[in-house]
Amino acid sequence: MKKLKLEEIKLYEAFEHKTTECPVCNLEKNYEEQLMHSILGERVMDLDFYPKIGAEYKFCSTHIEKLNRGSDKLGLAIMLDKIINKKLKDAKKNKVTLKPDQSILNKLFKQNKEVDKETNAELENHCFICSNVKKHNKDMVKVLVDLWIKDSEFKELYKASNGFCNKHHLNILEGSSNIKSSDHRKEFIDITNKIHIDNLERLQKELQWFIKKFDYLNADAPWGTSKDSVQRALQKLLSNY
Ligand SMILES: [Zn+2]
Ligand SMILES: [Zn+2]
Repeated sequence: MKKLKLEEIKLYEAFEHKTTECPVCNLEKNYEEQLMHSILGERVMDLDFYPKIGAEYKFCSTHIEKLNRGSDKLGLAIMLDKIINKKLKDAKKNKVTLKPDQSILNKLFKQNKEVDKETNAELENHCFICSNVKKHNKDMVKVLVDLWIKDSEFKELYKASNGFCNKHHLNILEGSSNIKSSDHRKEFIDITNKIHIDNLERLQKELQWFIKKFDYLNADAPWGTSKDSVQRALQKLLSNY
């Protein structure tokens, strides 16, 4: 029997999952869930982790929202308390103590605008969970590319997959730069693009049949595989949905 590393087994399992629109999304979701579980469960009490919450370890609004979907409200409350503590400290440091003077107000307004900018798009780059997920994806793509080179059985599984979401399609193409042999690299890029295009077309056909089913003439025709095509189209387009 073939000897596989743990990460390789995870990849095999993700690609054997035939109903997903992107096996890399499944891996990302599992990793993200484990990370969020460990943040609210153990790390929030950890003496190294806790003091950095809100300062070195920031969290984007998407991940705070995802943390809120879980059941661990105690862990989340401890985390939010620490973040508010940091915000309070910052607010007290910047507070206006003089009579409202236009130049100070302008300065403060400018500062707030910078803070606002940080809470939106920029924070995603600094979010503790986003950056760890990004690193995990990069590591998994490396394992994927290595496995594709050395394992013919995986190569077949890869070819028969349902393709990838837009984000992971690009991640995988980026990962192909690690392939030393230019022949292998070309073969990998060609097959990856073929899988992506074939499966976008397949999904589009399913969506188009979904739309046609709303015509009364098709009321009695079978749904085929199109019944959940809207949900799968969202997976394909939005990644980790
Ligand atoms: Zn994906
Ligand atoms: Zn995030």
